[in-house]
Amino acid sequence: MNENYLILLGLGSEAKSEGKSLAEQIDAVLPQTQCTQCDFDGCKPYSEAIVGGEAEINQCPPGGQDGVDALAELLGRPTLPLNESHGKTKPRRVAVVDEEVCIGCTLCIKACPVDAFVGSSKVMTQVIAKECTGCDLCVPVCPVDCIDMIESDPFANILQNNSAQFDSTHNQKQILERAIRDNSRERYQFHQERIERDKRERDELLKSRAIALKEKMAKDKAQKEKIEAAMLRVKNSKKK
Ligand code: SF4
Ligand code: SF4
Ligand code: SF4
Repeated sequence: MNENYLILLGLGSEAKSEGKSLAEQIDAVLPQTQCTQCDFDGCKPYSEAIVGGEAEINQCPPGGQDGVDALAELLGRPTLPLNESHGKTKPRRVAVVDEEVCIGCTLCIKACPVDAFVGSSKVMTQVIAKECTGCDLCVPVCPVDCIDMIESDPFANILQNNSAQFDSTHNQKQILERAIRDNSRERYQFHQERIERDKRERDELLKSRAIALKEKMAKDKAQKEKIEAAMLRVKNSKKK
């Protein structure tokens, strides 16, 4: 058993001991990259699909084989090989924007599932590295190809000098891993809520505009009818 597997399994067990639902326990084991490679809109929808029997446990490339094994253990099922038709496991990465080339089109901002970009229209965009999950979703949308993905190791400052320190190092890594995932999960939820709210507000605006237009058309029609009636009266009076 390797350390990564133990960290992941620990996150699932922690969620179980906190009385979380099965979908939440599965979600705790998933990387929170929100990359959609599993064919679902994010880690939470994928965890719900596993519970509902609509997805296998081996569809998450960022979680890798360790993730599949940890899910199998959590669910008391035999493990499966990672299904690489969903993609290959890559090292952790963050996005970096080439400031000289960026044209501030904001397409990457719209594509990011955790709102990791800062910038606005026609202003050069930057990535907040600690919020970036390395999901890759911004790379294909950039029209000038100015986003690079570079490797990053959040555990770089946690050193294990000898085997006696294994437990302490393991705990530190697990705490850091959980903090990273909790942060990405919260940002993803906030992003989803913001999208929903924006959609609701846009729908309400369109609805109120349609009502206003309908009222104006009814008013115009009544006005037109009034004018026509007046003209008819004038015409009739001239005939007398
Ligand atoms: S990390 Fe990507 S592939 Fe894995 S569960 Fe989350 S959204 Fe799906
Ligand atoms: S900045 Fe790019 S790679 Fe990073 S989370 Fe956002 S969309 Fe994904
Ligand atoms: S998609 Fe590319 S060019 Fe457009 S704002 Fe993002 S980084 Fe800049």
